[in-house]
Amino acid sequence: LRLTFNPIHRRETGIVGMIAVIQDVTEQEKLEQSRKQFVANVSHELRTPLTTIKSYAEALQDGALEEEQLAERFVGVISNETERMIRLVTDLLHLSRLDSNTSSLRKQRINLHDMLDEVADRFSFQLHQKSIQTYVSVERGLKTAWLDRDQIDQVLDNLMSNAIKYTLDGGAIYLSAKRSALISDLQISVQDTGIGIPRKDLSKIFERFYRVDKARSRNMGGTGLGLSIAREIVKAHGGSISLDSVLNEGTTVTMNLPLLQEGGDRA
Ligand code: ADP
Repeated sequence: LRLTFNPIHRRETGIVGMIAVIQDVTEQEKLEQSRKQFVANVSHELRTPLTTIKSYAEALQDGALEEEQLAERFVGVISNETERMIRLVTDLLHLSRLDSNTSSLRKQRINLHDMLDEVADRFSFQLHQKSIQTYVSVERGLKTAWLDRDQIDQVLDNLMSNAIKYTLDGGAIYLSAKRSALISDLQISVQDTGIGIPRKDLSKIFERFYRVDKARSRNMGGTGLGLSIAREIVKAHGGSISLDSVLNEGTTVTMNLPLLQEGGDRA
């Protein structure tokens, strides 16, 4: 709480009283604190690959270039780290556009079965590599929805890529669309049989740069922004997103989206 006193002046008599203002600054301070934390995180996330790139480039200059095999490995590391930085900056730009509401939604009527099938198709290579089976199901009578296809594809890609990253070989991923208990809502979920998330981390999992295991996420090429981006896109659709997980059993991420289109007609 911030307490300030403002004196009340009268021309004839001088100060005749005081106005005490008590302001609740907790929210403001929290916001400022999280902004500072975000900037610190971004700097750190960018600095890490840059430091690696610098030291490998120096090693090449200092003679590693002469040894073909070593040189090839070092150039590989530099290229991987550069790609990760590009992913990070792309994610940051996307988040900042979502934050400033400059990316307006372009909603269209979307066939749900096609949309979910195509997510699985986009990842068929990785799925095949890890022998992960996918199952798509759409509730009877639920054919289309009114969504920004590009944006929801981005959400689905982020969820699918996590599901694959954090599921062991031979696992399964279930993509489903159904009506929620509210009927007016569409519920799309991505469920995996992966490593799961410890209970203590669940409340923070949508925070920017929050990862259960930083090293593992980095090794897998993660930026720590996938779920935050997913949440912003779903929010822009007027919906909500939640995550349930049981350690060593699996994770389910569910988005709830309004089924009604702007005019009030059912999509
Ligand atoms: P990242 O790029 O690290 O995957 P995300 O924002 O997409 O960032 O996810 C944040 C963290 O949540 C991940 O680092 C991981 O620890 C955890 N996580 C997300 N999805 C899953 C999942 N399906 N199974 C297990 N852990 C997950």
